[in-house]
Amino acid sequence: MQSAGAWVYTRLSRKMKILTGIGLKLRTGCLFAALAASLSAQSSPHKEIVKLVEQNSPTYIQASKTIWEYAELGYHEEKSSTLLQRHLKEAGFGVEAGVADEPTGFIATYGKGRPVVAILGEFDALPGLSQAAAPDRSPVKAGAPGHGCGHNLLGAGAALAAVALKQYMEANHVAGTLRYYGTPAEEGGDGKVYMIRAGLFRDVDVVLHWHPASSNAVMNGGALALTSAKFLFHGVAAHAAFAPERGRSALDAVMLMGTGIEFMREHIPSNARVHYIVSNGGAAPNVVPDTAELFLYARSPSLATLDGIWARIEKIGQGAALMTETTLDIKILGSSNNIVANDALATIAQANLEEIGGYRYTAEEKHFAQALQKSLPAGSVPDSELAASVEPLRKFDPNQPSASTDVGDVSWNVPTIGFVAATFVPGVVAHTWQAAACAGTSIGQKGMLVAAKTLAVTAADLFASPQLVRDAKQDFLRQTAGTTYKSEIPAGQKPPIDYGKM
Ligand SMILES: [Zn+2]
Ligand SMILES: [Zn+2]
Repeated sequence: MQSAGAWVYTRLSRKMKILTGIGLKLRTGCLFAALAASLSAQSSPHKEIVKLVEQNSPTYIQASKTIWEYAELGYHEEKSSTLLQRHLKEAGFGVEAGVADEPTGFIATYGKGRPVVAILGEFDALPGLSQAAAPDRSPVKAGAPGHGCGHNLLGAGAALAAVALKQYMEANHVAGTLRYYGTPAEEGGDGKVYMIRAGLFRDVDVVLHWHPASSNAVMNGGALALTSAKFLFHGVAAHAAFAPERGRSALDAVMLMGTGIEFMREHIPSNARVHYIVSNGGAAPNVVPDTAELFLYARSPSLATLDGIWARIEKIGQGAALMTETTLDIKILGSSNNIVANDALATIAQANLEEIGGYRYTAEEKHFAQALQKSLPAGSVPDSELAASVEPLRKFDPNQPSASTDVGDVSWNVPTIGFVAATFVPGVVAHTWQAAACAGTSIGQKGMLVAAKTLAVTAADLFASPQLVRDAKQDFLRQTAGTTYKSEIPAGQKPPIDYGKM
């Protein structure tokens, strides 16, 4: 039986084809706004789902706030994961915890049969970004973790979408399997990669995800492939004044490796990124360091390009060891892929995001935003009220600034689509105290509701339209043709549970 959702999608596709066919050069945003407006009157399943999201929202706004206060690091999100599991269980989901050797990983499931639609949730914080919900730098606890990437909103908003959609499916006898994936340690721990290796995505038809940001937009592909490793040099300790000739400095090797990378930087594509810290520089100036370590990330929009750069980085490390008569151990810690685009899913996600729309700030929120923007670099603050609008659908530009996510690996295995919602004040970027502050306010929570509604109605469209699921799979095959998924994380490696402390 074709439901209203399927009808909406079919009608949307047909309109798209007609408009494209006659060569209308409308900006995508205007096109979708017009379509969404014309469709919204018929979209009663969407209305019902949006209402359910709103009804359930107080519980999940509170959950986002509690997780924001917990601010737990990757693979140690015990309280955050338990809280979300409890809410999902109470809502009628079956929960399997501790999946893929990840103590805080879990899968919540409702329903049975096909299609299998999964919504991703994250809940890990970042080190050192503890911050009150205040417009100036005010750590709750100096040096402690904070939600500078807004994953408190990400995890709670995705759970809210799943719960509201489950209630809709139950009331309307919708067939299919809805899953919420509680995915730990997105920030450098690659929780999703180990879940893929454990086969947990094998039977999934479509994956949906979202991420906090300062605007509302569909992410059709993008993100940088990333490899990270610790380069540990071993030398010989000696008295740095009495007998330096007996020493072989591991710190010298670290510094020479850094110098080598700086010279290499000129000869790599300008959209690649290489960045590092000295994670161990020795114990005291009067002892020649017998161990020293460089912790490095390298990224590129293309994994193949990154592999070439990575091989050169390893050679530079080996060269530094040769020059200093030290030895080198390389431990690959993490790796994630770029995100594969899916045009079929992007079309429907864009229409739905347009239909849900943004939101406006209250006078109090405007006041908070203006105070917070004073801490941002001059010229970085957009003057529009970004949260109220939805950006047009754009093709990913590999030369635009971007970050990395283990959602990329999921997208190489399952048709995947995601979007960002305006949880941060315009001008604020993730991984800052300003983002952590926003993630604890009503601005973050309003953005979270935009995300929950868009996720829930998009998942409902997938349950209603087998054709949409088929189109998503066909586009996935087209986008990944001639390539094979791989991860640079060595085979057999277990999730690095204490990677933040290593
Ligand atoms: Zn992040
Ligand atoms: Zn993030």
